Amino acid sequence: MPKTKLSVAQISLGLKTAKEEIDELRQKLNHHSHLYYVLDDPKIEDYEYDQMYKRLVELEAENPELITLDSPTQRVGGVVDNMFNKVEHLKEMLSLGNAFSIEDLKEFEERIKKILEIDEVEYVAELKIDGLAINLTYTNGRLTSAATRGDGRVGEDVLHNAKTIRSIPLSLLATDREPPDVLEVRGEIYMPRKEFERLNEERASKEEPLFANPRNAAAGSVRQLDPKVTSQRSLDVFIYGMGLVENAKFQITSHLETLQILSDFGLKVNKNYKKFKSIDEILGYCKEWEEKRSSLQYDIDGVVIKVNNLKYQEKLGSTSKDPRWAIAYKFPPEQVSTIVEDIFLNIGRTGVLTPTAILKPVRVAGSTVSRATLHNMDFIAEKDIRIGDTVIIHKAGDIIPEVVSVVKEKRRGTEKIFTMPESCPSCQGEIKRVEGEAAYKCLNPDCADLKKEKIIHFVSRDAMNIDGMGPKIVEALINNGLIRDISDLYKLDVTSVADIERLGEKSANNLIKAIEDSKKAHLYKVVFGLGIRFVGAKAAYILVDNYKTMDNLIKSEFEDLKNIDGIGQKIAESIVNYFQDKTNLQLIERLAAAGVNMAEADKDDSGEKILAGKTFVFTGSILMPRPEAEQIVVSLGGSVSSSVSKKTTYLVAGENAGSKLDKARKLDVEVIDEEEFKKLAGLE
Ligand code: NAD
Repeated sequence: MPKTKLSVAQISLGLKTAKEEIDELRQKLNHHSHLYYVLDDPKIEDYEYDQMYKRLVELEAENPELITLDSPTQRVGGVVDNMFNKVEHLKEMLSLGNAFSIEDLKEFEERIKKILEIDEVEYVAELKIDGLAINLTYTNGRLTSAATRGDGRVGEDVLHNAKTIRSIPLSLLATDREPPDVLEVRGEIYMPRKEFERLNEERASKEEPLFANPRNAAAGSVRQLDPKVTSQRSLDVFIYGMGLVENAKFQITSHLETLQILSDFGLKVNKNYKKFKSIDEILGYCKEWEEKRSSLQYDIDGVVIKVNNLKYQEKLGSTSKDPRWAIAYKFPPEQVSTIVEDIFLNIGRTGVLTPTAILKPVRVAGSTVSRATLHNMDFIAEKDIRIGDTVIIHKAGDIIPEVVSVVKEKRRGTEKIFTMPESCPSCQGEIKRVEGEAAYKCLNPDCADLKKEKIIHFVSRDAMNIDGMGPKIVEALINNGLIRDISDLYKLDVTSVADIERLGEKSANNLIKAIEDSKKAHLYKVVFGLGIRFVGAKAAYILVDNYKTMDNLIKSEFEDLKNIDGIGQKIAESIVNYFQDKTNLQLIERLAAAGVNMAEADKDDSGEKILAGKTFVFTGSILMPRPEAEQIVVSLGGSVSSSVSKKTTYLVAGENAGSKLDKARKLDVEVIDEEEFKKLAGLE
C-alpha cells in the first residue's frame, strides 16, 4: 500500500493525509457527477465542482502513486443509462482539460511547443457552449445515429429525440461537395435562455421540479424516452468538430477548414470563432467573451482553444480523458468593481454595530447592488477597505454582496480610512468593543435605533409572527409615540393604529388581531423574540424544552445552562446576563401581564418544530456540509427540496449560486444566506 507522508505542519494541525483528501475528493466528485450526468440535477455549482477537481489533479500530481484508473481525473465523466440503447462511438469522444488562469493557458502553450518542437502554433478559439455533448452520425449523408457522449466510448441512443431538433439536419447538404460515406460530427445541444425561462415558468405553475440551469434542462430534455417531450422544448445545436470520417471526398488540413465544411454541409456552426497566432492574442478574446457572455441568447461557460493544424493535433494526441491539442478556458464566477461611497453603521437588535458599505449601484448576479456588509472592523482592516476605494464585489450567490478585495492601484490618495466613532451614531451613547470579539456594541439601552430593531425582531415571522407589521409600521408607531418597546404593542388599539399614515381601518383591524393572536405563540417564539444575544430560534426551542416556563428560565443557572446539549458556555453566559438586568425582567412582566404566553403548551397540541411547514432549497456553496444543513432542517420539522418552486419557503444561497437564485427571485421566494439560515435554525 502506498504510504502518504504528513508534514510536521499537517500533523500539528491535525490535517488529513493526501490519500484521505484524495479519497474524499473522489467520493464527492463521483457523487456530484452522478447527480449531474445521470440525474441532470446538480446540487453544486460547476465552479465548486471544478475547484474540487483541480485540487484532486494537484494532489495526484504530487502523489502519482495514488492515481487509480477509476479516478475522475482519468476518465471521461458521464454515464450510459440503462434505459437507453447503447451506441458505440466510431471515434472516442473525449472531454477537455481545464484552464482557470492565464498561467494555465501559458502552460498549455508551452507543453504544445515542447511536444511539437516548434516556436509558433496557430489556434482557433471558440465559445464553449454550456449544453449537452452530442455525436451525430451521417451515413451517406443521412442522419443515422445520435448519441450522448456517455463514457466517451459508448453513449446513449437519443436519435428519436435529436430528430425533433430543427437545427439538426436529417440529411447533409451536398451542394458543394459530396458527404463522406460515414461522417461523425460532434456538437453541443443547448437550450436557449428564453426557452429555459419559459419551461421553468411552466413547470413552476404545474408545481413540477424546476431545472437548475439551461444545461441541465437541455440534458433532461434530450435524455428522454418520449420524443414528444423533446419536441415540445425548443432545443438548438452548435456543431464544432468531426469524429470519424470514412471515405472523405475532400481534403482538410486545419480546424478552420473543418468548421467551414461542417457549415457547408448545412450544420449549424457558431460563428464567433477566431484564428490566433499565439495564446497571448487569445487572452483578449477570452476577456471579451467573459464580459459579453450575458448578452448572448445561450449560456457559455468558457472559451475552447484548439490547435488549428490537424497534423499537429494528431501528433499531440490525447490522454485517457482529454485531447492535448485543446483546452477549455473556464470563466471565473462573475465579479464586478464599484466604489465605496460611504460606510455607515447598522445597529442590530442586540446593539451590535455592523459597518455597511454604501456602494455606487452596480449590476451583479442579476440585480442592482448598492450595499454590502463589511461584517466588523477586523474585516475592514484585513482588506484595508476605505471610503472612496474601488472594490471588487462577488457576483453569483452572495445575497448580501461581499467585498472581495480593494483595487489599490486605483487609489488617488483621497480615500478615507473608516474608524469606529466613540459614540453611537444613533443615540450618541457610549459604544464599546465586546471583549474577545470583533464586534462593537452600543451600550445605551434607550438607543432609538436599537429599540426599533428589537421591536422589528420581536414581530418578525420567526419570532411572534405578527402579520402585517413590517419595519415601516414599526417605525411609524415609534414616531407617533405609540410604542417604545415590545410590551407597548399589546396596548395598541384599532383607533390609534388606524391613524397611522396610509394604514386604514381594515389593515388596522387585521394588525390588532394579529397582535392579539401572537399572545398565544409558543413560548420558544417569545424567548427568541426577546432578542437575547446568541439565542436563535433553535436555542430558544431547546431552552423551552428544558425549562418549560419563562419563570424557570429566568431562574436558570449558568452551570446547568452550559451543560445543556446545544446551549454551551457562550449562550449560557448571555442568558444569565440578560436575566440579571432588571429592565429585562420588568419587560417580561409587562408582556406576561398583557397575556403573552409564558409557558410551554402541552406537547400533544403544540408538537411544533421550529421549521415545521417550511420548505428549504439549498444552492451554491455553503460552509456547512450540505447533508448536515439538510438534516437540521428535517430535524426541526422542515422539509428540503432540490428545486425552487412557489412552495419553497426559503432558498438558502451560498457562494456562486446560479439559476436557482434567479428562479427564487422570479417566484418571489425569500432568499437567505448561510448566516441567516443558521439564525433561523437557531445555530447562532
Ligand atoms: P467540460 O464541459 O468542461 O468540457 C468538455 C465539453 O465541452 C465537451 O464534451 C463538449 O461537450 C463541450 N463543448 C462546448 N463547446 C465546445 C466547443 N466549442 N468545442 C469543443 N467542446 C465544446 O467537460 P465535461 O467533461 O463535459 O464536464 C465536466 C464539467 O461539468 C466540469 O468541469 C463541471 O464544470 C461540470 N460538472 C458539474 C457538476 C456539478 O455538480 N455541478 C458535476 C459534474 C460535472
